[in-house]
Amino acid sequence: MASASHPSAPATTPDITIHTSKLFDPKQKKFLSNVSLIVSPLTGLITSVHTRPEALSTTIARSTHTIDLRGKTVLPGLVDAHTHLFLHAYSDTPAMVQMRDESLVERVIRATNHCRAALLAGYTTYRDLGTEGAGDADVHVRDAVNRGLIPGPRIFCATEALGSSGGYETRVESRSNDGVALGRISDPCDGVIGVKAAVRRRLGAGADVVKFYADYRKRALRFPAPLGSTGGSRGCDVMFPPEGEERSPSLLLFDQEEMDAIVREAKAGRAPVAAHAMTAEGVIMAAKAGVTTVEHGLGMGERSTEVLQVLKDSGTIFVPTLAVMELFVEDIKPLLAEVKAAYDLGIKLACGGDTGAFAHGDNVRELELMIQAGVPLEEVLVAATLHGWEACGGEWAGRKFGWLEVGCAADLIALEGDLEDHVGALRKVEFVMKDGRVWKRDGVAVGMV
Ligand SMILES: [Zn+2]
Repeated sequence: MASASHPSAPATTPDITIHTSKLFDPKQKKFLSNVSLIVSPLTGLITSVHTRPEALSTTIARSTHTIDLRGKTVLPGLVDAHTHLFLHAYSDTPAMVQMRDESLVERVIRATNHCRAALLAGYTTYRDLGTEGAGDADVHVRDAVNRGLIPGPRIFCATEALGSSGGYETRVESRSNDGVALGRISDPCDGVIGVKAAVRRRLGAGADVVKFYADYRKRALRFPAPLGSTGGSRGCDVMFPPEGEERSPSLLLFDQEEMDAIVREAKAGRAPVAAHAMTAEGVIMAAKAGVTTVEHGLGMGERSTEVLQVLKDSGTIFVPTLAVMELFVEDIKPLLAEVKAAYDLGIKLACGGDTGAFAHGDNVRELELMIQAGVPLEEVLVAATLHGWEACGGEWAGRKFGWLEVGCAADLIALEGDLEDHVGALRKVEFVMKDGRVWKRDGVAVGMV
């Protein structure tokens, strides 16, 4: 008789006890003192959380089954709500060149390295919003992590993003040459029936989350831009293009009926929906359609108040992706002010950097920028943990993570020293546990081959 064998620890594996002196609880939005937790490596879950009634001795015998994190700041494992495992820093190679020139093998190997870097940086969950030309390969990287083949965060992936015909493409002028074939970077779909079919294709391919482009620079080839600029594809510029945003504006890719249909179909399949939106209309229509999250959504100028109010009224989670914005704007301050205004209005924020546009492992840049924006530290930590779980679909995610209660995944990280005194501690990750397994201890990777 066939039986499902579990590849992890044998039944005799003892529980792990973890002692902390400063532990962040995203549900209460505060730091707790002197909490100890018990974790089952068999299930990867937290089985006990209690405040210690008596003082512990200053020295605890070090063992595999007792972990002393006192003197450090302990957080739930971080969730990056907007990543691209198959991209590496644009400063190394422009996105268009990566998508056009890198083999699938190279991209998968890079993704494998990115998984390790993310985990060691304290990221136990990735919400990965599109492979950008690598088809459905993210599903299989996710499964490789889940099968214990490679270290990495728990991945919720989108496979290919949805865009309307011609809407989100690798834009090169050689497309019409004989023999030049470029892989697609989105699943093109149009009309209510067409977008419903596309959502079904994505879910059938194994996607956890449906991503669509509410708007994009769909006329980028009207005034082709030089490589390295936003959306640029070649070396030689054209003369006298329109200036600034006018050159290649973001324009709607779907109408309201189509967005409504995407969300309805995805939610019928119990999948959360992420909408890329860079225009006021795009954000408003996506929010009205009922998306789980709006990605980017900054730079709204005089329509900022109106846009934020719609996000607030619809209860949409906002993922402002400040870290990628920083790469493309001369002055980040107006965007920081928009994020602060969003927070002040009571909009639910999640931290996602569009990581991949910059290096995996530097994910905390998004937290640093939110703190710089004036969002209180505790609220930023909630955005980087609990709200990340909600962005992954909450109960639909199939596992609880992003906070530390009995029954939640044992995802914990410890930072050197006191985070409240020194925000730089975000980059000093001493300890990482995911699903009850230790991957980093005393600042050193363990258990990786
Ligand atoms: Zn993105």
